[in-house]
Amino acid sequence: MAERTAVEARRITRIFGSGTAAVKALDDVSVEIRANEFFTLLGPSGCGKTTLLRMIAGFEFPDAGEILLDGADIAALPPYRRPVNTVFQNYALFPHLTVRQNIAFGLEMLGRARAKIDARVNEMLRLVRMEELGDRRCDQISGGQQQRVALARALAPEPRVLLLDEPLSALDYKLRKEMQVELKRMQHQTGITFVFVTHDQEEALTMSDRVAVMSRGKILQIGDAREIYEHPVNRFVADFIGESNFLSGTVAAVHDGRAEVRLDDGPVIMAEVPRGLTPTGRVSLVVRPEHGELAPPGGGGLAGTVETVIYSGTDTHHRVRLDGGGLFIVRSQNRRGVAGGRAEGERVAIRVPDGAAQILRD
Ligand code: ATP
Repeated sequence: MAERTAVEARRITRIFGSGTAAVKALDDVSVEIRANEFFTLLGPSGCGKTTLLRMIAGFEFPDAGEILLDGADIAALPPYRRPVNTVFQNYALFPHLTVRQNIAFGLEMLGRARAKIDARVNEMLRLVRMEELGDRRCDQISGGQQQRVALARALAPEPRVLLLDEPLSALDYKLRKEMQVELKRMQHQTGITFVFVTHDQEEALTMSDRVAVMSRGKILQIGDAREIYEHPVNRFVADFIGESNFLSGTVAAVHDGRAEVRLDDGPVIMAEVPRGLTPTGRVSLVVRPEHGELAPPGGGGLAGTVETVIYSGTDTHHRVRLDGGGLFIVRSQNRRGVAGGRAEGERVAIRVPDGAAQILRD
């Protein structure tokens, strides 16, 4: 059975300003967000994520294109009539009201009966694990607790879609990690479609069912964490998500979805070819640091000298200066009792196993 689409953006364009000062915040963007999924808009500052989110909420309007909710165009619906709620970065709680009163606020606006409101507030307090603090004023709880209250308040009226605009950015590292897990749990438990905005790639990959990577008003790639990390479509995505080594070379032959590429730095490798591409001539390639292998010099591979070695607990980073001038990072997992690290200044060869390199579209 096909999965139901909760939110659809169809060929959305939004231009701010005019003349030479015009900014294309969204440039012909289309995306389908499925019901019950945790969907993330990821990209650097200014790429258009917030503008797209605000359009779903009804605070912003497209110059061209449509936003559909459960298949219906919602252009004419004001924000408060949409079955959508937003959690803002600064939480926007009423500081002088109690946790309970904050969570009840939206339900009161909707004119729900008192008994129903009380039951729902209790349910929400349980969901965000704040049962003990219901009667505390919101200026007397911690930042992490305020975050939970903001979530409870937004979820209380049972929106079909919850929009989250960088909701964790004000939290310290440890709390942020904890809230990432909590958010995911709440999404599962409620079954509500979450549309999450972040510029933090690690956060996007760990939390989302699917991610849309954006740059300059365009969506470059949509996929789950593995697809985006292992098969980035172009250089921007490869560079933005995780660490990357970029190489260039010339295609010698293509067979069975793999290309034989002679690298500018010497060796011939077998590289993955993205679906639908028939590479010829000069190509760019990406290799993730954990896919390169350090070997003694002289046995083939990319010749270079270890420039820096960084031990980081679970793994070791080797920054290798290739003889051709480029830099190549190799990350290898540390194993207990095994001395895996090379010394700075040591000559090495980096082997790129079959399929570890991927050809990029641009
Ligand atoms: P950030 O992560 O910094 O919030 P973003 O990816 O959410 O960035 P948007 O806020 O959507 O990006 O902005 C996209 C572009 O549109 C930016 O260049 C921004 O300066 C511009 N922009 C957004 N809102 C307006 C506005 N009301 N008037 C003029 N320009 C705007």
